[in-house]
Amino acid sequence: MGDEMDGTIYGQGLGLVAQREHTGVKTRAGCCLTLALSTWFSLAGAVSPPYEMGTWPAFRSAALSFTFDDSCSNQFVLAIPMFNRAGFKLTLFSCTGTLFAGWPTLQDAAARGHEVASHTVTHVSLGGLTDAQQVAELKNSQDAINANVTTQRCVTLAYPFCVEGNDALTAQYYLAARTCSGQIMPSTPANFMSISSYVCGSAGSVQTLQNFTSLANSAASSKGWCVFLIHGLDSDGGYSPLPSATLQQTVNYFSTNQNKFWVQTFGNVVRYIQERNAAFVGETGNDGDRISLQVTNTLDSAVFNYPITLRRPLPAGWPGAAVSQNDQRVPAQMLYVGSTNYVMFDVVPNGGEVVLAREVLPVMLNNPVLSTPASFKLRLEGQAGARYAIQASSDLVNWSPVQTSTLVSAATNLTLPALEARRYYRAQWAP
Ligand SMILES: [Zn+2]
Repeated sequence: MGDEMDGTIYGQGLGLVAQREHTGVKTRAGCCLTLALSTWFSLAGAVSPPYEMGTWPAFRSAALSFTFDDSCSNQFVLAIPMFNRAGFKLTLFSCTGTLFAGWPTLQDAAARGHEVASHTVTHVSLGGLTDAQQVAELKNSQDAINANVTTQRCVTLAYPFCVEGNDALTAQYYLAARTCSGQIMPSTPANFMSISSYVCGSAGSVQTLQNFTSLANSAASSKGWCVFLIHGLDSDGGYSPLPSATLQQTVNYFSTNQNKFWVQTFGNVVRYIQERNAAFVGETGNDGDRISLQVTNTLDSAVFNYPITLRRPLPAGWPGAAVSQNDQRVPAQMLYVGSTNYVMFDVVPNGGEVVLAREVLPVMLNNPVLSTPASFKLRLEGQAGARYAIQASSDLVNWSPVQTSTLVSAATNLTLPALEARRYYRAQWAP
């Protein structure tokens, strides 16, 4: 998974970052300190042991956002189909006056899950404007996008020429805004109105696949967030063009390294950070076979509705767990971290009661192959993290143990001695 212990008690208040990255077992003192902070500042969340929150979804090591400015034509012709094929989402920072792509184009992109966000109305540097002029650029572009692209919300901004305006004004309209000073953001940025990015293409510092991957790895080493800024592609006339072949190589690379890197829109990364830092996680019931859980925060659920990743060690005697929220099954995965078997799952804060239920998944032995000299190969399929006893018999009555196997993933290949002319094998969950 690329992460060691990423278990974290998050908290943040009054711009004072109280985030804690723990590398071992969290102490009760650490927990109580966070609770005290949350009471004092009233903004922070708390995730108590044995629950742990992923810094990024599925406990990945880094977040990556690909942002595209100025609606250069190949962004729609080349980049969006490329990202669609990979299942990745990108962000289009669009002006609503100048450099405007047209609503049908932006609506189509939003319908595929890409983010349509603001690059102001007239692509003017906010630094030279009065507060009233800044408000007109910030608010009118947002209103226009929200009126015309109704499948999403316009919640983020890219500053034209990367020039910040009055942060307090920007924050009245946007969750976050992007500059381009070429820095990796920490897992919780100090100022959401000043999120840095790297300029890609001929006029920027990111021109090759190797440039993309080395920045991504640098972000991973600090559990950070790396934002790429792209304008032109090939010869579409856009600023600082990047060869589309390089972008395709980059998408391919991150597509095959999704365990480590989380590629997501600028806005959804901001949502995840805010939700993870504000979340309260607490058990409300546990009868041994069924644990109920509340995952809440005080954020506006109309905006903050991105699933966040939690995990906990499987309770003793549980080979696996089924997870549901509001009676709907949610994605859950059993996995080993160190020597601990965890259940990891995604839930939406304030999205209703979460239930973890003890579950024994079916086990299967298949693909038998007899090979010389005297060995018998077969495949064991079951629950990742669960231990299985393999037993053998010559008469289907008396069974003797052959070996036990702990599944690291959902299946493994076994090689067993074939000592008799006829032998039967079976697998059983071994608690
Ligand atoms: Zn621009």
